[in-house]
Amino acid sequence: MLTGAALGAGLRELASDGVISPERLAAGAAIGQGLGDIFLRLLQMLVVPLIVASLVSGIAGLGDLRRLGPMGARTLAFYLSTSAIAIVTGIVAVQLVRPGVGVDRALLESGAADHALPTAAAAPAQAVSDVLYDQLLRMIPTNPIAAAAEGAMLPLIFFSLLLGVFMNLAEHDPADSAPPGSVARVRQFFEGLFAVMMRMTLAVIALAPIGVFGFMLSSTASHGAEAFVALGGYALTVALALLFHAVVTLPLLLYGLTRRSPLAHVRAMLPALMTAFGTASSNGTLPLTLECAEHRAGIPGRVGAFVLPLGATVNMDGTALYEAVAVLFIAQVYGLDLSLAQQGVLALTALLASVGAAGIPHAGTVMMVVVLSAVGLPTTAVGLILAVDRILDMCRTTVNVYSDSVAAAVVAHFEKPDGAPT
Ligand code: ASP
Repeated sequence: MLTGAALGAGLRELASDGVISPERLAAGAAIGQGLGDIFLRLLQMLVVPLIVASLVSGIAGLGDLRRLGPMGARTLAFYLSTSAIAIVTGIVAVQLVRPGVGVDRALLESGAADHALPTAAAAPAQAVSDVLYDQLLRMIPTNPIAAAAEGAMLPLIFFSLLLGVFMNLAEHDPADSAPPGSVARVRQFFEGLFAVMMRMTLAVIALAPIGVFGFMLSSTASHGAEAFVALGGYALTVALALLFHAVVTLPLLLYGLTRRSPLAHVRAMLPALMTAFGTASSNGTLPLTLECAEHRAGIPGRVGAFVLPLGATVNMDGTALYEAVAVLFIAQVYGLDLSLAQQGVLALTALLASVGAAGIPHAGTVMMVVVLSAVGLPTTAVGLILAVDRILDMCRTTVNVYSDSVAAAVVAHFEKPDGAPT
C-alpha cells in the first residue's frame, strides 16, 4: 500500500515538475489500475462457488440437526442477535460520523475505471414493509442455477441454506429411501469443494498486496495522497464501532447473562484473539479458540465443540458490522442517502453476507458484493476500500472470534443445570 502510494505520488511530482510527460503519468496510473482490476476480478470469480460450498458443507456437516435441540436453538439465537446488534452499531456509527460525505469518488477510483452509476437513488419511495417483502420474494430463486449464473447472491444463499438443511435431514433420517451412503457422498462432494475453494481463495488473497499496490499507485498518481485521508475516516469509523461492540456490548451480555468477569474471559481467550488478529482468519484460529475456551476459560468441551466451529463459519459480528459500515460509506461517497427501507435491506443482507462469509482473510470483502448489489450500488465499488482492508480484517476477525467465545460461555452457562460433565 505504501509502496504503491509513494510511487504514484512520486510520478505525480515528476509530472508536475515537467520531468515526465502527462501521458507517462497516465500510463503509470493505468498500469496500476490494470493490476488492481485483475485482482478484483479474481476475487469476484470466487464468490459463487465459495458461498455455495461454504454454506452447504457447513450446514450439512453439523451432525443430526434434529438432535441439537435447545443448545442448537440457543446458539443460533445468540449468534443472530449479537450480529444484529453489531450491524445496528455499525449503521449508527457510520451515520453519525458520515466519513464518506464529501469524499470525491474519483479520488478512490483512480480515474481509469468508468463504473456504472448506482441505481439506488432512482428507486421510488416505498413503505419499509413493502421493500422487505419485495426483498423476501427476490430471495427465493425461481431457478437456482440461473441465480448462480447471474451471480444473484441472496437467492443463491437462500437455496444453499435449504440444500444444506435438507441434505442434513436426508442423511440422518433412517426412513430415507436413498441408497446407503449416497447422501453422505453428496455432502462429501461439497466438503471437498469447500476445501478446494478455500485454498483457491487463499491463493488469490496472496495476490492482495499486488492488487492494493496497483490501486494505490493509480489513485495517488491520479490524485495525490488525498485518497489515504479519504479512507482514514472510514477506517476509524469501522475500528471505533468494532471497539464499541467488543468492549461494551459483548462484555455486558457476557456479564449480564453469566456473571462471568469479561476481563477474565478476555484474558483466557487472549492467545486465540491475538492469533485471530495476526492471521485475519477465524478458521485458522479455530484450534486455538477451542483450546483456550476449554482449558483456559473453563467452557465444557462438548459445548465448545459444537458452538465454536459453527461460530467460525456462521457467526461473524465483526464482519457483519464492517459490511454495514463499508456499504454505507460507499453510498455516502456516491452521494446517496439510503432510505430507512434500504437500510433495512442493508442490515438483512449484511447479516446474510456475514453468515455466508468463510472464516478466511478478506472473505467479508468478497461477500460485500452481496450487500452492494442488494442496495443497488455497483459491485466494483469494493475497489474503493481495498487499500485499508487488511488492517480492518484483522480487527474484525478478532471481534468474530471473541463473539464466538462469548457465545460459547453463554450457551455453556445455560447448559449447566443438567450437570453433564465435560
Ligand atoms: N477474515 C474474517 C474471518 O476470518 C472474515 C472476513 O473477511 O470478514 O473471520
